Amino acid sequence: MPIAVKVMKRPGSATSYVRATLKGMALTFRHLFRPKVTMQYPEEKSTELWTISSRWRGTHRMLTDEQGRAKCVACGLCPQICPANCIKLVPGEDEQGNRYPLIYEIDEFRCVFCGYCQEVCPEEAIHVGVHYENSEYSRDRFVYDLERLCGQTHPVSTLWDPSDPRGE
Ligand code: SF4
Ligand code: SF4
Repeated sequence: MPIAVKVMKRPGSATSYVRATLKGMALTFRHLFRPKVTMQYPEEKSTELWTISSRWRGTHRMLTDEQGRAKCVACGLCPQICPANCIKLVPGEDEQGNRYPLIYEIDEFRCVFCGYCQEVCPEEAIHVGVHYENSEYSRDRFVYDLERLCGQTHPVSTLWDPSDPRGE
């Protein structure tokens, strides 16, 4: 199919830009009376018009039991399903045969925040969280170990529910 080329005529020397300028200024002026959608981040984190979704998938959090131990039983499902291969798990076992993670690390820098780890976890231990302020000055600080994951306090993300696809 041939490509149509539209040739635009350049304005001549007799063209006045006043009309276009006034139109532009009128548009700008109209915006002065519209509701503001900006917010004063970081002092403000949400406004009446906008708040972060409870489905936001950000910084991970490991939930703990009543004794403060990680709920993870080192089943190995989350590192298995992780598409970014960013979960490191070394399982251990106590005298009673209970499995627990000797090493559990997530590289937040490689993570694509798909939430599969949360979905697959049989113990509801690992979660993505409603949290995004996790910038660091060095690459290795993005690797969260078990202690750091357990120490997170932000809310955990709610999973997508097929019966409520819009989250209402
Ligand atoms: S959110 Fe996805 S990419 Fe990130 S650790 Fe979990 S499974 Fe891996
Ligand atoms: S899926 Fe859950 S229980 Fe299994 S290794 Fe991952 S965090 Fe631990």
